Amino acid sequence: MSLIPRSTFRFALRIALPVLLVLAGSIVFMIVALTEMAGEVDQIDAVATERSAEASLQALLKRLRDAHGDYAVWDDAAVALYGKVDTEFATRNFKESTRSAVFFDAAYLLDENGQHLFAYRHGGVAPRGPLEEFGSPLQVMMTALARNYTEYDAQAGIMKDRSGAIAAVAVGSIYPTTRGVERAVGRPRLLVLAHTLDDRSIRRMGADFAIEGMSLSFDPNFDGQHVQLVDPTGKKVGALTWQYNSPGNEAFQRVAPVAYVTLGLIGLTILFLLGIGYANLVSARRREHQAVYDAHHDSLTGLPNRAALTKGLDVAVRRGGTEALAVVFLDLDGFKEVNDSYGHDTGDRLLERVARGFKAICAHKGLLARVGGDEFALVLDSPDAVSAAEEIANRLVQFLHAPIHLDGRVLTVGTSVGIAFADEGGISAEELLRRADVAMYQAKELGRSRVALYDRSIDAEKLERRLLADDLRIALKGNALKIVYQPIYDAATLRPALVEALLRWQHPVRGAVPPDLFISVAEEMGLMDELGTWVLRHACLDAVAWPQVRLAVNVSAVQFRNPGFDRILASILSETGLPAARLEVEMTETNLVSYPDRAQHIVAVLRVLGVTVALDDFGTGYSSIGYLRRFAFDKLKIDRSLVHGVSVDPETRRLCEATVALGLALDLAVTAEGLETEADVEIMRAAGCSHLQGYYFARPMTAAAVTELIAQAEAEPVAEALQPA
Ligand code: C2E
Ligand code: MG
Ligand code: MG
Repeated sequence: MSLIPRSTFRFALRIALPVLLVLAGSIVFMIVALTEMAGEVDQIDAVATERSAEASLQALLKRLRDAHGDYAVWDDAAVALYGKVDTEFATRNFKESTRSAVFFDAAYLLDENGQHLFAYRHGGVAPRGPLEEFGSPLQVMMTALARNYTEYDAQAGIMKDRSGAIAAVAVGSIYPTTRGVERAVGRPRLLVLAHTLDDRSIRRMGADFAIEGMSLSFDPNFDGQHVQLVDPTGKKVGALTWQYNSPGNEAFQRVAPVAYVTLGLIGLTILFLLGIGYANLVSARRREHQAVYDAHHDSLTGLPNRAALTKGLDVAVRRGGTEALAVVFLDLDGFKEVNDSYGHDTGDRLLERVARGFKAICAHKGLLARVGGDEFALVLDSPDAVSAAEEIANRLVQFLHAPIHLDGRVLTVGTSVGIAFADEGGISAEELLRRADVAMYQAKELGRSRVALYDRSIDAEKLERRLLADDLRIALKGNALKIVYQPIYDAATLRPALVEALLRWQHPVRGAVPPDLFISVAEEMGLMDELGTWVLRHACLDAVAWPQVRLAVNVSAVQFRNPGFDRILASILSETGLPAARLEVEMTETNLVSYPDRAQHIVAVLRVLGVTVALDDFGTGYSSIGYLRRFAFDKLKIDRSLVHGVSVDPETRRLCEATVALGLALDLAVTAEGLETEADVEIMRAAGCSHLQGYYFARPMTAAAVTELIAQAEAEPVAEALQPA
């Protein structure tokens, strides 16, 4: 699983899922709560409506019983309806009332034996008596009355008539209000009033009690909301029903859209927040991923960097089976020159190009990394690593044999390659890399653009040089270095014309270290710039005191390579106060061969400053006449190895004379160095040298000795100065 999906999965499981579950739970809870609330409201409303309906029924019965009381408890009625019934009274008060049907629509009078004496209905004579009409329910009410014949009593109830219509029926005794009016003793006569329940009356009942759509159901087992109508015998005769409203549900319907929108918005907000959280997570993961990538890759070439290589190598070493592990270490030859001459942009592009080429050659064979500025390394960890390493290394060297075309320029770089194998157990990744590095240096020393295998003996020498460099660093800081001066004589006057500054190092343990050795160590270990600057400054300071002679200072190829060399030199001159015209710089042939463009430039700049330039060690290297013509030197110094034996070997003599002649032909002053005998001096003088140097005249000496020598030479006449020291 890649990094992003795994973090997505974790995010989904640890954050998104719980949040969404809580959200879903809240939504469900809210809907359930609203539904519950609506149900509760409906329930309350249903109970209230039922109570109202009940009350309306009771009110109906009460009204009928009240009406019954009004008609039955009445002196006139007690007189008119007992004994022989006053038909006229009955017609006026009862028959007519059943027509208007305000309180009742049927009225009956029963005698003491239960026979009806009149029966009116809807303003006419009813076809049946009340007991025939209403049957046993009325009988039950009458039975209840029979217990109390001493005072007015009435009963009311709901019952069906013969036609099946439902009516409220009241029955009670007829009683006088005044004591004077007597009624017959015994059973009283009974007045029965009935009011048939029809749509109109039910609607009115409903309106009085604010019950919407109240109606009568004849179905005794009505299913909806209702109040049961039960007759006095306990039989269900029908029900009062009403239109079912669900106010809770209505409220719910009204509130629901708002609630849903609110929930939706909350949900969207949460999703949005989750989205932002997730986006942040993804970008944090991406940054982390990038940081990890950056930490292990070189930004310029995209190759793994030193850290990644060391890690990979560590893993390979720890896995064991070390005989199949090789490290190939590469350093570009001449890269620094490209950088110095064409700038860092070109240098960078060259590195990219080289990296691409290396990558194509090493593809999938091992771990290729850029481990430094112009250093690359390849780790091979396969059974054929030993044979593959050399083959790939040679192909890499070969690859850079062809010049590289960049921006219309033709760049030539090479690569020196070192190889080390893990041929013994317990060797660390770091050590393996170091060994490959040592082998690479060996390849460089053997002449660059080649492959070298790690060799223990080179390593010991290398270690030696490294230790020496450490000591040299300490000596430089601790002022343990000294400068001695060897005079150079004018060939015509045989008086000191220059003094050459030569560096000396008295090592606390090793004693005097030869300058050839420690100078090369300083060059190799990156100390030469500092060391050279130190010599220049101190020699110039000393030389200020010797206006009679000029100062010659040796400058290493490394110092020439430094693009700020001329600036450093100019600042030392102005700092010490030594006139530029009194300084001569000695450069070696190495400068010419390795960095011709750079050398040409610096020679030109030095001459503009007024400093003269001598080509040192002439005859030991490769400088051709072409080179000599190209550079505007002032002087040639014929190396002492060439001069050696000049007075005993005729061939050497001829060679030296020819060399001097060449210098003169190129219009250069010529110094012969290493003159040890009078014969040497005479021959080189005769050959045409302008200056002479060697133990014959003087060995290198301290600054104090130089001061003395100059004073002596001043005092001596020219003729005596001709006598050698
Ligand atoms: P070089 O510049 O060619 O210096 C002349 C070397 O020849 C000196 O050796 C000197 O002592 C030696 N010499 C002079 N006359 C005679 C002679 O008659 N017979 C013999 N056998 N030797 C003679 P030294 O001092 O050992 O220096 C060796 C080289 O070290 C120098 O060669 C120079 O290349 C380098 N060197 C010394 N000091 C410095 C320095 O400050 N900077 C740089 N870059 N190189 C230095
Ligand atoms: Mg020299
Ligand atoms: Mg020399």
